[in-house]
Order: sequence, then C-alpha cells, then structure tokens
Amino acid sequence: MEGAEAREPIIGIDLGTTHSLVAVCDAAGPRVIEGPAGERLLPSVVRYSNGRVSAVGSDARKGAAEFPDQTIASAKRWMGRAHGEASALDGAFGVEVVAGPRGLAALRAGGATVLPQEVAAVVLAELRGWAERALGCAARRAVITVPAYFDDGQRQATRDAARLAGIEAVRLVPEPTAAALAYGLGRRGHPETIVVYDLGGGTFDVSVLEVTPDDGSGAGAMFRVLATHGDTRLGGDDIDRALAERLLAEAGLGSAGLDGASLAPASRQALRDFAESAKIALSTRDSATVDVDLGGGARLSRSLLRSEFEAIARPFVERTIELCRRALDDAGNPHLDRVVLVGGSTRMPLVRQEVARFFGVEPYTALDPDMVVALGAAVQGALLGGVRRDALLLDVIPLSLGIETVGGAVAKLLMRNSAIPAFAREMFSTSVDNQTAVRLHVVQGEREMAADCRSLARFELRNIPPMPAGIPQVEVDFTVDANGVLQVRAGERRSGQRASVQVVPSYGLTAEEVERMERESLTHARDDMRRHRVIDLAVNASLDVKWIGDALERVRAHLDTAVVESVDQELHRVRALIALAKSAPESVDANAFQQAKEALDRASVPVHESAIAASLRAEQQAAGSSEPNSERGGGVAPRSPS
Ligand code: ADP
Ligand code: MG
Repeated sequence: MEGAEAREPIIGIDLGTTHSLVAVCDAAGPRVIEGPAGERLLPSVVRYSNGRVSAVGSDARKGAAEFPDQTIASAKRWMGRAHGEASALDGAFGVEVVAGPRGLAALRAGGATVLPQEVAAVVLAELRGWAERALGCAARRAVITVPAYFDDGQRQATRDAARLAGIEAVRLVPEPTAAALAYGLGRRGHPETIVVYDLGGGTFDVSVLEVTPDDGSGAGAMFRVLATHGDTRLGGDDIDRALAERLLAEAGLGSAGLDGASLAPASRQALRDFAESAKIALSTRDSATVDVDLGGGARLSRSLLRSEFEAIARPFVERTIELCRRALDDAGNPHLDRVVLVGGSTRMPLVRQEVARFFGVEPYTALDPDMVVALGAAVQGALLGGVRRDALLLDVIPLSLGIETVGGAVAKLLMRNSAIPAFAREMFSTSVDNQTAVRLHVVQGEREMAADCRSLARFELRNIPPMPAGIPQVEVDFTVDANGVLQVRAGERRSGQRASVQVVPSYGLTAEEVERMERESLTHARDDMRRHRVIDLAVNASLDVKWIGDALERVRAHLDTAVVESVDQELHRVRALIALAKSAPESVDANAFQQAKEALDRASVPVHESAIAASLRAEQQAAGSSEPNSERGGGVAPRSPS
C-alpha cells in the first residue's frame, strides 16, 4: 500500500512580518491556496484574551485598534532575538517585550506571555488548515521562507514555530531565493546574477544572488547570496504616514505631525487608511480623491495628483536605491542579468521606474509581488517532493499567444511549439474615431475566438492623441525569455505612448490541458476559421462603410442620382451584414459578405474620385500623408488595405 505521505504535497509557506501565505505546486505549476473566505493573504496577527488565542488573521487585525494590548502583530521582528537586543525595538511597534526563557525576547498580550515562535505557530497552523481544506489531505511538511539575513537563532525559532504547528520544516529557504525559484531561474541556461528588491509594508530588503543552474546531476540549481542590505523600518507604511502628515499640515491641523495633531485616534487611523488607499489608487491612475472626516467639524477634501504623491514618496524610494547601491558594492558590482520585484509596495510606478533606471534592467513583475515568495517556496517543495512538470512546457511555448481583436477574434503572435526565447511584433490600430485608449487582452490557446482561449492579462494603452479610426499605429511586441516569462509591450508610434505587462503563460497549465486545447482546436477548426473570417470582414467593412458614407455626404450634390442610389444600396447591404456578423457571425456566409464588400468598393469609385478632387481643390494638399498602417485589427481594428 502506498503511504499517505507519498501523495501528501510539500507545501510552501511565506511567513511574513505583516502577511503570510501558503502555496502548492503540482503539474499545473505553483498556485497560492485560498482561505475559507477566498482570501489569499493571512495577516500575521494574533489576539490573546485571558491568556489564550482568541482571534487569528484578519479578525485579529480588524480588532487591533479596539484591543491594542491583546494583539500581537509583526512577531517576526522578535523571532529568535535576545531580550536585550529586541527591547531596542520595543515601543515602536506597540507590543510589550519581556525577558523569556534562555534570555529570549518574549511578548506579552491579553494575559499571555509567549515567545514569538509561539505566535508564528498560530499563524502557521492556520495556514496548514487552509491547505488541508483546499487539498483534501494532510499537509504536514512545508518549505518555509525566512529573510536572507536571518541568523541561526532566528532560523531555529522558525523551525520551532513549525514544529509547534505540527509541521515539519523540510527546508528553510531565503525569501529572495524563493522569489528567484518562482520565476524558474536556475532551471536552464547559464549562471545568472540577479537582484531581488523587496519593499513591503514595514521593511525593505535587497539581495544580490548568484544562480548556478542544475548541472544535470539532479542536484538542483545553486543559489548563493552575494550580498544583502535592508532597513527594518522602511516600507509602504512610512509612505502612508508621510502622505497623511502632508495632508494634515495643508489642512492647518498637523504642525506637530500625525501623532502630535489634536486628532482622535479613530480620525488618525481613518486618515492613514485614506492615505493608503489614495496611494494604491495612484499606482494605476493619475489622480485620486481624498475625502476624510477628521471629526470636530474638520474635513479634508481634495484631489491628489500622482506627481504630488510621488514627490512625497520619492525620498523613501531614494533610500532604497541607496541600499541597493551598497548591496551591489558589497557584491563587487557584478554584471546583472535580472531584477525581481517583491512586496506590495513595488506596485508603485515610481518604484518600478527608479529600480529599472538604477539597475539598467527592466524588472520582472509577471508574478504578483505579494505572492512571489510563497510561490517560490511551493516550487522548492515540489522539487524536494519529486513533483515534475512536463519538460515540454519548459523548452517551447506550449500554446499559441496572441491578442484579442475587435469582435472577439484572436490575432496570434507566437505560435505554439515555438522554441523559447521568442519574439514577435505586429501592428494594430483603433476602431473608433478619436479613441484615446486601447484595451489589450493577452490570450493563450489554439481557438480563433478569445472567449475560447485562456485569458492571461489585460492592460491599457492610454493618452493616445485623438485621431480618426485606423490612423494610430499601435505596435505590439511579444517577448518570451529563456525562463518562459512573457512580456507584452504596446506603443503608439506617433505619440510615443507606451504600456506593458508581464505574465508566466505556463503557470496554471498541465500537459493534459494543453492536449485538450489542441484537440478542441482541431474539432472546431473549420467553424472557427469561418467565424474569424466573418469578424475580420465586418471590422474591415465597418471602416469602409464609415469612409464611404462620410465622403458620400460631402459630395452627394456633385454626383449623378443613379450613382448615389447604387452606393446607398450597397452601403445598406453591407451595413446589414455587419450587424448580422456582430449578432450571429455563424449565420453569415463569408463569401457572400466578401462579394458585397467588393460590390460596395466598385460602386463607390466615383465617390472617392469626387471626394479626392474636392479636397484637392479645397486644400491643394497632397493625399500621401496617411499611408495605410496595418493589416490586422487589435483591441481595435484593421484598416482595409484599399
Ligand atoms: P510585508 O512584506 O511587510 O508583509 P507586503 O508585501 O504585504 O508587506 O506589502 C504591503 C505594503 O504594500 C503596504 O504598505 C501596502 O500599502 C502596499 N501596497 C499594496 N498594494 C499596493 C499598490 N497597488 N500600490 C502601492 N502600494 C501597495
Ligand atoms: Mg514580504
């Protein structure tokens, strides 16, 4: 009989200062496991009442303001520290630190005196419960991540925490190493030097790692930490605070800062929460609205521009860059191959921009920065547990990659089974006049319609200057690097506007699913092709109809009635077919549609001639400035090459 242990996965746990996560890796790749409410981040917070645990995670966090002396947050800061050493941190984080056994720092809350590892054990046990519920089996072995700078005592405390939670810590992995593993670094190719930049809520860490790939002996990749630097009191929370203080000062309330201001604690907390949500909003938008009731009739209401926020955040980001500089110096200023971003605060565009500028490398952002460490722990767990992904998935693009175009069809840029690394570029345009934003939807699969493919990512190219439909030239690049990370870049040529997104297309995909998708594409090939053709025709014809219709209105008076009538008739037919193609593409005969479109083109020749003559007369201007730009439509439309 096969033992239960053989089937039991080795899970991966990111035991974080503010949040913890659990993940697992199977044939589909690594994924984060959700809690009972669908949440993925467990706040590393525990409440004690009458000497016992009374709440864990988000309940404990929500109650922190109400039960400050019963709540322990950030226990990780004290893990394995001596009492004398840890009391230097006391006060700053609201927890009472006392002398525990063997001179260790212990924490006191709600009538309990506990070691930090006991608090961590409560968090780990909760995550173990999430995993067992989701996986339907026991989860008694885990890879747990620790900061790169953790010493033996801190590591031992982490192991003890696991043991108390009924978990065998099969291996402790440094957080930056886990981040590298999540990206598949060290799986193939040459040795690489990478930087892991981790900016969270309360702490900043930067590590320089050397990755030596598996030499084929099966020993696995080697990760060596060349240098690490950080600041245990520098993170997103500090930026929230600085923003809150600035807003208070402006309102004439905060000459003494957030703590000195004559604000009720609840208003203070509300202000900080607003500062954080404004900050988060400004990661994706150019402005945010701040509207806080400060109590006592005082109200703060204004809009905040990203540029104003960035002026406040910049000094903090500069401090992280200074620490990066030191880490690079310590590592002997090696040539860098990759930069990996970790931590929620790296979603700030300012951080991405400054990190890219300083290192001269575009950072990896494909994986959610909150999840990347847990995903890497799960990858390590799978390696130790002998779980292998299909090798095929690693050397080639398993399924075609493309962009959804207007009407829901797919323009494929990289075909399945292309060897990686791979690159493709294609031009697209807009489908509506004066369209200033183009939505891009990246999909994976063999089917012709986006709805039948796997959705990988969506992003938007904004601030395109208003132009007629079909004139903007939107260049879309797909790059898949040696690690299988896909970067999609979109740029509008005339305005220079750019946007990009990264994903790991092979995650979430099993060999079986690849086979299923291939099979389905064969079964549906004929219907799919027809629909795709009909939709492309409709998109093309829409632009024709619009051009011809507009031109006809301008020159109607100069044309024979017979010509006008026949053009009107053809326009009417094509418009009806376009409408039908949109509502029921399968009922449209593509050949008949093509013929109707050609008939319209023939009938409208006099309209074009007359319109050109009119515009020549009017403006004496050459008509050569608007060269046709693209053969295909994207998020947007193709221009008919007429
Ligand atoms: P830690 O490693 O300290 O546990 P996290 O990695 O969870 O922290 O990061 C938490 C921080 O990330 C918080 O300061 C939060 O405000 C910030 N954050 C989360 N999402 C965003 C976002 N979209 N833009 C800017 N900051 C963000
Ligand atoms: Mg973290």
